[in-house]
Amino acid sequence: MTSAAKSKPEALFSLSPSWQRAALIGRPGELLLRLGLDPALPALDYERLRHFPLRVPEAFVARMHRGDPEDPLFLQVWPGMAEGIDTPGFSEDAVGDLAKLTSGGVIHKYKGRALLIATGACAVNCRYCFRRHFPYGDSLASRGNWQEALEQVAADPSIEEVILSGGDPLSLNDDKLSALVRELESIPHVRRLRLHTRTAVVLPERVDAHLLDWLGRTRLQKVIVLHVNHPNEIDQALEAAITRLRGTGATLLNQSVLLRKVNDSADILATLSERLFACGVLPYYLHLLDRVQGAGHFEVNENKAVKLMGELAARLPGYLVPRLAREEPGAPAKTLLPW
Ligand code: SF4
Repeated sequence: MTSAAKSKPEALFSLSPSWQRAALIGRPGELLLRLGLDPALPALDYERLRHFPLRVPEAFVARMHRGDPEDPLFLQVWPGMAEGIDTPGFSEDAVGDLAKLTSGGVIHKYKGRALLIATGACAVNCRYCFRRHFPYGDSLASRGNWQEALEQVAADPSIEEVILSGGDPLSLNDDKLSALVRELESIPHVRRLRLHTRTAVVLPERVDAHLLDWLGRTRLQKVIVLHVNHPNEIDQALEAAITRLRGTGATLLNQSVLLRKVNDSADILATLSERLFACGVLPYYLHLLDRVQGAGHFEVNENKAVKLMGELAARLPGYLVPRLAREEPGAPAKTLLPW
């Protein structure tokens, strides 16, 4: 992705429009330099990074505090040495996706909904990602061939909602995305389209006129689930992008992952809920970390999570308190934790 000879941030994708040419930082030394951090801060070795590289748009780096190695946004993207530790109880397929994945790239875990792995690409590599080991190359859909996936959805009238996931569906350009959505629209029993995206958060300029055009015209009811973990992620550009998305008639929700040293405090979570709601986004889920190998250092234990939820509920109206959830392999729905 990046070559050692390059000194400038690399373009995110090779083609226009502008968001596809957005600056991307892909080398640890470059990120440390950009943030004024100690250049000797240890990072994963090249061999491990090759499988899941550092990848972060400049637009997200701009929201990090210079000189702070504990910055909560920096910690989410920095490939530190802790990732090299094998944590007991953690695995490469933490939520049992592979057992449910069809060759066409559909994951049909829950009744009425099917998840389509629309692409393996993401604008950012989140170090806690539950799909960090996912074999995207094995599924046709993530290689851009959606025919089999569409046939599976068309053949099952119980599927009323299609969730585009990945990777991040907004990594795809709008010609491809709108063509895929047109195919879904032609299936009479599909009523809702859900997009899960962190790209819109880390790269708000992705929410451009092309995206808004097809999103505003689709007959499908639209639900956009953003992935914001910390209030510092919400800057003016993201607020404006959210306003544009809301203008299409989409319902906007947010899901976060509870991450140690990033957002494991009631103050931070309460501020996040308030900030999201001020932009017109409802807090939806707060996920316990999926136990994926390489992310053990992010885990917050269940007792602490439950305590945090109690504190949140004591200070926020109910509609601003996200549901604390865990995904368990083989379960018919997400497990909601009582608090
Ligand atoms: S954007 Fe989502 S799928 Fe991509 S690396 Fe981050 S958590 Fe994983």
